[in-house]
Amino acid sequence: MNPLHDIIALLLPRKCHVCKCHLARHEQHVCQRCLSQLPTTHYHRITLNPMEQRFAGVVKFRKATAMYIYTRDSGVATIIQDFKYKGFPSLARFMGRTMAEQLLTTGFFNDIDLIIPVPLHFTKHAKRGYNQSHMLAKGISSVIDRPVSTILYASKSHSTQTSKDHYQRWQNTRDIFSVRHPDELKGRHILLVDDVCTTGATLIAAAQAVLRIPDTQVSILTLAATPQ
Ligand SMILES: [Zn+2]
Repeated sequence: MNPLHDIIALLLPRKCHVCKCHLARHEQHVCQRCLSQLPTTHYHRITLNPMEQRFAGVVKFRKATAMYIYTRDSGVATIIQDFKYKGFPSLARFMGRTMAEQLLTTGFFNDIDLIIPVPLHFTKHAKRGYNQSHMLAKGISSVIDRPVSTILYASKSHSTQTSKDHYQRWQNTRDIFSVRHPDELKGRHILLVDDVCTTGATLIAAAQAVLRIPDTQVSILTLAATPQ
Protein backbone atom coordinates (compact mmCIF):
# COMPACT_ATOMS: atom_id res chain seq x y z
CA MET A 1 0.00 0.00 0.00
CA ASN A 2 1.36 3.42 -0.90
CA PRO A 3 0.44 6.03 1.76
CA LEU A 4 0.80 8.77 -0.84
CA HIS A 5 -2.08 7.22 -2.81
CA ASP A 6 -4.27 7.41 0.29
CA ILE A 7 -3.44 11.09 0.78
CA ILE A 8 -4.22 11.83 -2.89
CA ALA A 9 -7.47 9.83 -2.63
CA LEU A 10 -8.45 11.90 0.41
CA LEU A 11 -7.66 15.18 -1.33
CA LEU A 12 -9.34 14.22 -4.59
CA PRO A 13 -12.36 12.00 -4.14
CA ARG A 14 -12.32 9.63 -7.08
CA LYS A 15 -15.69 9.30 -8.74
CA CYS A 16 -16.98 7.19 -11.61
CA HIS A 17 -17.30 9.33 -14.75
CA VAL A 18 -20.62 7.67 -15.58
CA CYS A 19 -22.65 7.16 -12.35
CA LYS A 20 -20.59 9.57 -10.16
CA CYS A 21 -20.37 7.00 -7.33
CA HIS A 22 -17.15 6.87 -5.31
CA LEU A 23 -14.71 4.44 -6.85
CA ALA A 24 -13.40 1.49 -4.89
CA ARG A 25 -9.66 1.40 -4.29
CA HIS A 26 -9.09 -1.08 -7.17
CA GLU A 27 -11.24 0.89 -9.65
CA GLN A 28 -10.06 3.63 -11.98
CA HIS A 29 -12.09 6.29 -13.80
CA VAL A 30 -15.23 4.14 -14.35
CA CYS A 31 -16.71 1.74 -11.76
CA GLN A 32 -16.91 -1.97 -12.55
CA ARG A 33 -20.71 -1.86 -12.67
CA CYS A 34 -20.81 0.91 -15.30
CA LEU A 35 -18.00 -0.70 -17.30
CA SER A 36 -19.87 -4.01 -17.43
CA GLN A 37 -23.04 -2.22 -18.58
CA LEU A 38 -21.45 -0.48 -21.57
CA PRO A 39 -23.03 -1.90 -24.73
CA THR A 40 -20.36 -4.09 -26.33
CA THR A 41 -20.76 -4.56 -30.10
CA HIS A 42 -19.06 -7.99 -30.39
CA TYR A 43 -18.36 -6.89 -33.98
CA HIS A 44 -15.02 -8.71 -33.97
CA ARG A 45 -16.99 -11.99 -34.00
CA ILE A 46 -19.06 -11.02 -37.05
CA THR A 47 -17.98 -11.43 -40.66
CA LEU A 48 -18.47 -8.15 -42.54
CA ASN A 49 -19.63 -6.45 -39.35
CA PRO A 50 -21.33 -3.02 -39.44
CA MET A 51 -17.94 -1.26 -39.07
CA GLU A 52 -16.48 -3.20 -41.99
CA GLN A 53 -19.58 -2.46 -44.04
CA ARG A 54 -18.76 1.27 -43.77
CA PHE A 55 -15.39 0.73 -45.45
CA ALA A 56 -16.03 -2.22 -47.78
CA GLY A 57 -15.50 -1.24 -51.40
CA VAL A 58 -14.30 2.25 -50.42
CA VAL A 59 -10.92 1.56 -48.89
CA LYS A 60 -8.81 -1.59 -48.71
CA PHE A 61 -8.58 -2.76 -45.10
CA ARG A 62 -7.76 -5.97 -43.25
CA LYS A 63 -10.08 -5.75 -40.21
CA ALA A 64 -12.32 -3.15 -38.62
CA THR A 65 -14.22 -3.12 -35.36
CA ALA A 66 -15.67 -0.84 -32.69
CA MET A 67 -15.86 -1.80 -29.04
CA TYR A 68 -19.13 -0.14 -27.99
CA ILE A 69 -22.35 1.12 -29.54
CA TYR A 70 -22.53 4.91 -29.30
CA THR A 71 -25.89 6.42 -28.44
CA ARG A 72 -26.64 9.83 -26.97
CA ASP A 73 -27.13 9.95 -23.20
CA SER A 74 -25.39 6.59 -22.81
CA GLY A 75 -22.44 5.83 -20.53
CA VAL A 76 -20.24 5.65 -23.63
CA ALA A 77 -21.30 9.17 -24.66
CA THR A 78 -20.51 10.51 -21.17
CA ILE A 79 -17.07 8.89 -21.20
CA ILE A 80 -16.25 10.26 -24.66
CA GLN A 81 -17.51 13.75 -23.76
CA ASP A 82 -15.37 13.75 -20.61
CA PHE A 83 -12.15 12.76 -22.33
CA LYS A 84 -12.80 14.87 -25.39
CA TYR A 85 -14.13 18.13 -23.98
CA LYS A 86 -13.63 18.12 -20.22
CA GLY A 87 -9.89 17.58 -19.99
CA PHE A 88 -9.53 13.94 -18.93
CA PRO A 89 -6.85 12.46 -21.21
CA SER A 90 -6.11 9.72 -18.65
CA LEU A 91 -9.71 8.50 -19.04
CA ALA A 92 -9.09 7.99 -22.79
CA ARG A 93 -5.92 6.09 -22.00
CA PHE A 94 -7.83 3.91 -19.54
CA MET A 95 -10.53 3.16 -22.13
CA GLY A 96 -7.86 2.28 -24.70
CA ARG A 97 -6.38 -0.17 -22.22
CA THR A 98 -9.81 -1.58 -21.35
CA MET A 99 -10.79 -2.29 -24.95
CA ALA A 100 -7.38 -3.75 -25.80
CA GLU A 101 -7.63 -6.13 -22.83
CA GLN A 102 -11.03 -7.29 -24.10
CA LEU A 103 -9.80 -7.81 -27.67
CA LEU A 104 -6.41 -9.26 -26.82
CA THR A 105 -7.44 -12.92 -26.87
CA THR A 106 -9.59 -12.60 -30.02
CA GLY A 107 -6.63 -12.36 -32.39
CA PHE A 108 -7.70 -8.91 -33.57
CA PHE A 109 -4.23 -7.49 -32.93
CA ASN A 110 -2.34 -10.32 -34.64
CA ASP A 111 0.14 -9.00 -37.25
CA ILE A 112 -0.30 -5.35 -36.22
CA ASP A 113 3.07 -3.56 -36.42
CA LEU A 114 2.20 -0.01 -35.49
CA ILE A 115 -0.66 1.98 -33.95
CA ILE A 116 -1.56 5.33 -35.52
CA PRO A 117 -4.17 7.62 -33.95
CA VAL A 118 -6.39 9.68 -36.24
CA PRO A 119 -4.78 13.12 -35.82
CA LEU A 120 -6.38 16.40 -34.87
CA HIS A 121 -5.56 19.53 -36.80
CA PHE A 122 -2.89 21.42 -34.85
CA THR A 123 -5.23 24.30 -33.96
CA LYS A 124 -7.67 21.89 -32.32
CA HIS A 125 -4.80 20.01 -30.71
CA ALA A 126 -3.42 23.25 -29.28
CA LYS A 127 -6.83 24.23 -27.92
CA ARG A 128 -7.51 20.81 -26.32
CA GLY A 129 -3.94 20.20 -25.23
CA TYR A 130 -3.99 16.56 -26.36
CA ASN A 131 -5.45 14.29 -29.00
CA GLN A 132 -7.90 11.89 -27.36
CA SER A 133 -7.27 9.26 -30.07
CA HIS A 134 -3.55 9.42 -29.26
CA MET A 135 -4.44 8.71 -25.61
CA LEU A 136 -6.61 5.74 -26.68
CA ALA A 137 -3.70 4.50 -28.82
CA LYS A 138 -1.30 4.77 -25.87
CA GLY A 139 -3.67 2.70 -23.74
CA ILE A 140 -3.87 0.03 -26.47
CA SER A 141 -0.09 0.10 -26.87
CA SER A 142 0.42 -0.63 -23.17
CA VAL A 143 -1.54 -3.88 -23.60
CA ILE A 144 -0.44 -5.14 -27.03
CA ASP A 145 3.16 -3.93 -26.83
CA ARG A 146 3.26 -2.24 -30.24
CA PRO A 147 4.51 1.33 -30.71
CA VAL A 148 2.34 4.39 -31.32
CA SER A 149 3.34 6.67 -34.17
CA THR A 150 2.23 10.25 -34.84
CA ILE A 151 3.64 10.14 -38.35
CA LEU A 152 0.17 10.85 -39.79
CA TYR A 153 -0.92 14.48 -39.44
CA ALA A 154 -3.89 16.62 -40.42
CA SER A 155 -2.70 19.17 -42.94
CA LYS A 156 -6.16 20.73 -43.18
CA SER A 157 -8.84 21.24 -40.58
CA HIS A 158 -11.74 18.80 -40.73
CA SER A 159 -15.05 19.68 -39.13
CA THR A 160 -17.88 17.57 -37.73
CA GLN A 161 -19.27 15.21 -40.31
CA THR A 162 -22.78 14.52 -39.10
CA SER A 163 -24.64 17.45 -40.63
CA LYS A 164 -23.11 17.13 -44.11
CA ASP A 165 -24.33 15.20 -47.13
CA HIS A 166 -22.19 12.62 -48.90
CA TYR A 167 -20.55 15.03 -51.37
CA GLN A 168 -19.83 17.63 -48.68
CA ARG A 169 -18.29 14.95 -46.46
CA TRP A 170 -16.09 13.77 -49.30
CA GLN A 171 -14.96 17.34 -50.03
CA ASN A 172 -14.42 18.03 -46.34
CA THR A 173 -12.13 15.06 -45.75
CA ARG A 174 -10.36 14.82 -49.11
CA ASP A 175 -6.59 15.07 -48.70
CA ILE A 176 -6.75 16.33 -45.13
CA PHE A 177 -4.18 13.81 -43.91
CA SER A 178 -0.51 13.43 -44.86
CA VAL A 179 2.33 11.19 -43.71
CA ARG A 180 5.60 12.77 -42.53
CA HIS A 181 8.10 9.98 -43.23
CA PRO A 182 6.41 7.61 -45.69
CA ASP A 183 9.37 5.19 -45.79
CA GLU A 184 8.77 4.29 -42.14
CA LEU A 185 5.37 2.82 -43.01
CA LYS A 186 6.46 0.65 -45.96
CA GLY A 187 5.61 -3.00 -45.46
CA ARG A 188 3.80 -2.33 -42.16
CA HIS A 189 0.34 -3.34 -40.98
CA ILE A 190 -1.09 -0.23 -39.31
CA LEU A 191 -3.89 -0.06 -36.77
CA LEU A 192 -5.78 3.22 -37.15
CA VAL A 193 -7.43 4.31 -33.90
CA ASP A 194 -10.20 6.83 -33.32
CA ASP A 195 -12.74 7.57 -30.61
CA VAL A 196 -16.07 7.42 -32.46
CA CYS A 197 -17.01 6.26 -35.93
CA THR A 198 -20.14 7.88 -37.33
CA THR A 199 -20.07 7.97 -41.14
CA GLY A 200 -16.53 6.62 -41.35
CA ALA A 201 -15.47 9.49 -43.66
CA THR A 202 -12.59 10.66 -41.44
CA LEU A 203 -11.24 7.14 -41.03
CA ILE A 204 -11.51 6.53 -44.77
CA ALA A 205 -9.47 9.69 -45.43
CA ALA A 206 -6.86 8.60 -42.86
CA ALA A 207 -6.67 5.09 -44.33
CA GLN A 208 -6.31 6.48 -47.85
CA ALA A 209 -3.39 8.67 -46.74
CA VAL A 210 -1.61 5.62 -45.26
CA LEU A 211 -2.43 3.35 -48.20
CA ARG A 212 -0.84 5.77 -50.67
CA ILE A 213 2.43 4.35 -49.39
CA PRO A 214 3.22 1.13 -51.22
CA ASP A 215 3.02 -2.19 -49.39
CA THR A 216 1.06 -0.95 -46.37
CA GLN A 217 -1.98 -2.58 -44.78
CA VAL A 218 -4.60 -0.98 -42.56
CA SER A 219 -6.93 -2.20 -39.83
CA ILE A 220 -9.33 0.05 -37.94
CA LEU A 221 -10.38 0.18 -34.29
CA THR A 222 -12.61 2.74 -32.60
CA LEU A 223 -13.85 2.91 -29.04
CA ALA A 224 -17.43 3.35 -30.26
CA ALA A 225 -19.57 3.48 -33.37
CA THR A 226 -23.03 4.86 -33.99
CA PRO A 227 -25.58 2.17 -34.86
CA GLN A 228 -26.21 1.85 -38.57
ZN1 LIG B 1 -20.26 3.97 -12.31
